[in-house]
Amino acid sequence: MRIGIDLGGTNISGGIVNIDGKILTSYSIPTEVDKGSNKIIENIVSVIRHLIAKKNSNQELHSIGIGVPGIVDKKGVVLECVNLNWRNVPLKKIIEEETGYNTYLANDATVAALAEASFGSLMDIDTGVLITLGTGVGGGYIINGKMMTSPNGLASEIGHMVVGNNNVRCNCGRIGCLETYTSSTALIRNAKIEIINAPHELIAVSKFHRDYYKNLNEITGKIIFQYAKDNDPIAYKVVDDLAKYLAIGIGNLIALIDPQVISIGGGLSKAGDFLISVLSKKLESERIFKSLSPPLIKLAKLHNDAGIIGAAFIDKYVEKN
Ligand SMILES: [Zn+2]
Repeated sequence: MRIGIDLGGTNISGGIVNIDGKILTSYSIPTEVDKGSNKIIENIVSVIRHLIAKKNSNQELHSIGIGVPGIVDKKGVVLECVNLNWRNVPLKKIIEEETGYNTYLANDATVAALAEASFGSLMDIDTGVLITLGTGVGGGYIINGKMMTSPNGLASEIGHMVVGNNNVRCNCGRIGCLETYTSSTALIRNAKIEIINAPHELIAVSKFHRDYYKNLNEITGKIIFQYAKDNDPIAYKVVDDLAKYLAIGIGNLIALIDPQVISIGGGLSKAGDFLISVLSKKLESERIFKSLSPPLIKLAKLHNDAGIIGAAFIDKYVEKN
């Protein structure tokens, strides 16, 4: 049995997870970021103690894992976490001293990839990537069966690969990051722009335009995909553009790490097989060495619980000396 902790800016959620990836008990409390760093750590420890008290006395606790919404180095120090106002917090050491159990940390996007590698779309894969398309774009990868780590913890910031020149400045400071093309934020922004600038011939045949021209602020990712699936020309163009830039990003990943599977998760992945089919068409022109078989493009399987389950299994993917 393992404990997995999903440390978020709003809540700290934890669970006791068995070897099959089932959450046996879970517990969640507010993070209380406004009360400062020590209080956040106190709350993490309190979730862990609560879970330890709940486990059967005959069940042995293997380890604790924590998914952190920030940058974590190899030694388990949280170098930077904007949401929690943290810099250089030696969280692994603190939790090990407080609880007496081996503790492993990873970035939360990496943790989601580990959940997929353990029990979802990246199972039994040596090298695979999870790309999450939500309000931002994140991701993580498994290389040769291990989690990607680096001295500065920056290695899986997939959303900040530059894939074009759209004059949109990303939160990270660069222009043209994958996140500025393929997040739900970008999708909605682009849909509004396409509606506002639509030429007459498209306006005449677009129900999407007719229904939302006067209600731009009601447009959601789900709505855009619904209209695109019905072949609305404006909605389809917006989705097609997203797929085009996602395919460029994936083409870059193929050139760099040659994954067997690319898994698509996050809120926009609810568009399901439709998104995968539009994306797969775009990917044909973006991949190199076309004589080699392309990576499989799949939908992620684990959603809400991925943060806890993936955190519980971090130790399986850590290079041990
Ligand atoms: Zn960026």
